[in-house]
Amino acid sequence: MCDTKNYEFYKSHHICVRCGQEIAEKNHTLCLVCMIKSREEARAYHKKHKEEKREQNRIRSRNRYHKLRNLGLCTSCGKRQVKNNKVLCEHCRIKANYKQRQKYLLNVYATRNICEIRV
Ligand SMILES: [Zn+2]
Ligand SMILES: [Zn+2]
Repeated sequence: MCDTKNYEFYKSHHICVRCGQEIAEKNHTLCLVCMIKSREEARAYHKKHKEEKREQNRIRSRNRYHKLRNLGLCTSCGKRQVKNNKVLCEHCRIKANYKQRQKYLLNVYATRNICEIRV
């Protein structure tokens, strides 16, 4: 199929350039079956590509984390210096604590019965 001579031959004769057997669809170089197949392959390729990208992102963010840690910078904002071998700067720590507290409170309200909460 990679033979360019064959490719041109099939193309000019409206034969599918992939299987070289079926008549190619109008305005296409592939027959219907091969069109479906190549579309599926493209989809599989994109899916694989997406997963690879996700993995790359994961590695990149991990590298970023280690790099910032080595530099003594906050791993969240990447700008401010950290103290006492922490991973977050004051600013981000307060923010993270606040978020965690919100989450904790929501959890408390969600798991407790109304009658248990007495004011
Ligand atoms: Zn075909
Ligand atoms: Zn920060």
